[in-house]
Amino acid sequence: MTIETELKRGEMFYEGKAKQLFATSDPDLIIAYFKDDATAFNAKKRGSIEGKGAVNNRVSQLFFGLLESEGIRTHFVKRLNEREMLCRRLQIIPVEVVIRNIVAGSMAKRLGRVEGEVLSRPVVEWYYKSDALDDPLINDDHAEVFGWATAQELARLRELAHKINRVLSNFLNHRDIILVDAKFEFGRYHDEILLGDEICPDTCRFWDKATRAKLDKDRFRRDLGGVEQAYQEVLQRVSR
Ligand code: UDP
Repeated sequence: MTIETELKRGEMFYEGKAKQLFATSDPDLIIAYFKDDATAFNAKKRGSIEGKGAVNNRVSQLFFGLLESEGIRTHFVKRLNEREMLCRRLQIIPVEVVIRNIVAGSMAKRLGRVEGEVLSRPVVEWYYKSDALDDPLINDDHAEVFGWATAQELARLRELAHKINRVLSNFLNHRDIILVDAKFEFGRYHDEILLGDEICPDTCRFWDKATRAKLDKDRFRRDLGGVEQAYQEVLQRVSR
């Protein structure tokens, strides 16, 4: 099989809110296509952010490359074009891993804390990946009892989330961005657990270090304006 055949886009087997996933002739590889569509509050708010797909593709590739260079294995194989990346095909673990350095969003609301409170150490949370249920917050027992992840896998996810958070926070800090929180998805690949999905302004909160201005999807969620500009600003800062 030539590389050309391998890279051909096969059938679309999944369409999510922000991406389409296509099979390739290699069962271990898929192509992720990044859309401009944006949703928030579990798709109750819908819209489009011009150029978002291209930015998220670039930013994710950059972060995956950085993490790989720090010894963290990811699904990223290579960039194909402006909106597509070649990835390893994972069996996604249905547990969304959120790590927080500063209180924001649902944590502020659920626990009655002020957005912006700096946590004394990073906090990890699990959410069950289910659109029908609006991704509910779960604990270790839920994940284990319902068979979403084993105790051993959860321990590994926690360890990886902390490591990824340290690498990204440090990298972003040098570019005058605070990593407030982030959501990661992981998957099983042969005998390993790899980081999957995307890491971008849709899935993280980025605040400007000096002004604390929001440079992420909260601009869309909260109708703050300047959404496209914020995404471009993140791309520019992480590319330098
Ligand atoms: N997040 C995400 N997908 C989701 C829910 C959250 O990427 O389905 C990200 C979100 O962008 C933020 C972090 O996870 O960086 C924590 O989100 P939070 O629980 O505060 O929920 P939100 O305020 O987004 O509803």
